[in-house]
Amino acid sequence: MLNEIDYEKFFCEIAGRLNEADDYGKVADYIPALAEVDPDKLGIHLTTIEGKNYAFGDSNERFSIQSIAKVLSLTLALKILGDEVWQRVGVEPSGTAFNSLVQLEYENGIPRNPFINAGAIVICDILVSNLEQPKLELLNFIKKASGMSNIDYSSEIADSEKETGFRNMALANLMKDFGNIHNDVDSVLDLYFHLCSIKMTCKEVAQTFLYLAAGGINPITNTTVISLKRTKRINAIMQMCGFYDEAGEFAFRVGLPGKSGVGGGIFAIHPEKYCIVVWSPKLNEVGNSYKGIKILEAVTTETNSSIF
Ligand code: GLU
Repeated sequence: MLNEIDYEKFFCEIAGRLNEADDYGKVADYIPALAEVDPDKLGIHLTTIEGKNYAFGDSNERFSIQSIAKVLSLTLALKILGDEVWQRVGVEPSGTAFNSLVQLEYENGIPRNPFINAGAIVICDILVSNLEQPKLELLNFIKKASGMSNIDYSSEIADSEKETGFRNMALANLMKDFGNIHNDVDSVLDLYFHLCSIKMTCKEVAQTFLYLAAGGINPITNTTVISLKRTKRINAIMQMCGFYDEAGEFAFRVGLPGKSGVGGGIFAIHPEKYCIVVWSPKLNEVGNSYKGIKILEAVTTETNSSIF
């Protein structure tokens, strides 16, 4: 079925269908380096687990993947610490903004899930506790998992995050006060800001996360990234918590597990089939790519390929 679809033609058609009303949303500007991105960029890339690639538009231009990278830090933390991770962070949707402080206060510094900022900061704390050179080792893990040796942090974006990351500093300090950050707050945030600064193309994101569609194995390099059992868990958390306060809507409209970032990227996986990535920088009110969701909705609906 998958091989019968001419995805490139289909992507072109969907992009052509987006009309003026779809030119909606706003590029994230609370991180100055993100505000400089051309709002009209549009890239789509789908990679099947057999290694077939279908591309459209700006799919070979690197963009800031932001919170998409939180899936990689979680993968590494699970490899290192296993189920102990769940003593420090939950697996429930938060129902609040990704950078909210309120819930964290009344839930005693235990973040709802590893994809809201507080949860990802706890995951970074776990990595700082367990790695000798956290930034280097995390990057090496990402290079190995993706099979791409030229993935890197962007110091420009990391610096920009640091300069304006007051809310993330507040989250980290609040959790430190509750005893859920074990290391020095600055070194944990340094890793967190670098994690968010990684840049990739749509194609690179699609190939990186193919392991989540292939039972934990990167089918391109044939290396095991994580076990099947943990792949299931990561996909479940993505389904329920991968889209800020809009995960229900994403499941309803698109019907695939995935993760978005405020750089305007979204990846979604269809287990045993493919990973698809869309990049369009204008975000809706909750921080997801406006066009990205529309495109993914059209793809899964019109090719009957949601998991539901
Ligand atoms: N670096 C961003 C922040 O900490 C990540 C936001 C996101 O993509 O969800 O606010």
